[in-house]
Amino acid sequence: MNFVKALECLLPVVDAVHARWVTDRDAMHANHSAHPEAPRVTCTKGCGACCHFPVIPATAGEAFIVLARLLAEGESLENLRSKFIPYASRYLEHARRNGSLPLTDEQQRLFLSEKLPCPLFVSTPEAGPLGGHCGIFNARPFICDFYHSLESPELCLLKRPHASYSDITERGHEALDTLRHEERRIFGRSTLGHLPLLLAALLTEDGMNTFLTVVKPSAEEENIQDIEDFGLYMELIGCLGYRWGEGEWDSLAKAQSEVL
Ligand code: SF4
Ligand code: SF4
Repeated sequence: MNFVKALECLLPVVDAVHARWVTDRDAMHANHSAHPEAPRVTCTKGCGACCHFPVIPATAGEAFIVLARLLAEGESLENLRSKFIPYASRYLEHARRNGSLPLTDEQQRLFLSEKLPCPLFVSTPEAGPLGGHCGIFNARPFICDFYHSLESPELCLLKRPHASYSDITERGHEALDTLRHEERRIFGRSTLGHLPLLLAALLTEDGMNTFLTVVKPSAEEENIQDIEDFGLYMELIGCLGYRWGEGEWDSLAKAQSEVL
């Protein structure tokens, strides 16, 4: 499949899933707001700790749509590569140094010392050491929309668990599930991965070709489909020069299952 055809197939799907999500999300927020005793969302503009996390799970299709929108807005491939490829180099260098991609909770906490924000993050140091805002707020992936906290942002700074509205996060995961189902229908496989790494991979010729390659779907056997999906992430990260180590497959499978 070529870039334009993939865009024609995927964009209406992403927009439709997003429109339904927005309606449901707003209704759920309105419902919580109507109860004065209900806890309040503590996320504010300027709070950017979660944009420094080493796992910002998006589908490869979402990353592709983010890239297409950035290009349509006039961003050049050269400029995007100058942001994402150094990010990926530093990220993967951290992984090599520590013997694994930062997937487990402990590995993710260790990664925070890198203070490496998503390349789409716009830093505003006056808002605090990790302060800033999303540079693609209206086009950000689902996870960045539905991830929220009802507790102190300090917990996010330390990558510690915090409360959130379960109906909103469940509905967000459902939207992601729907997207993955649609991506499998279109491309034969779908994967969840770290958004900046997915974008960096798509900015390489090999990565884009890998994403656009349609494989025969194996939906009737769930474990085979999972292998196809994990395989796609491994191939995409491989396009950035990363060689997967023993045991990382299991950590990735565990990390993906915790997200879904
Ligand atoms: S999820 Fe946490 S880090 Fe992200 S905006 Fe909300 S409080 Fe801040
Ligand atoms: S896409 Fe935006 S909200 Fe999501 S991690 Fe990147 S900068 Fe943060």
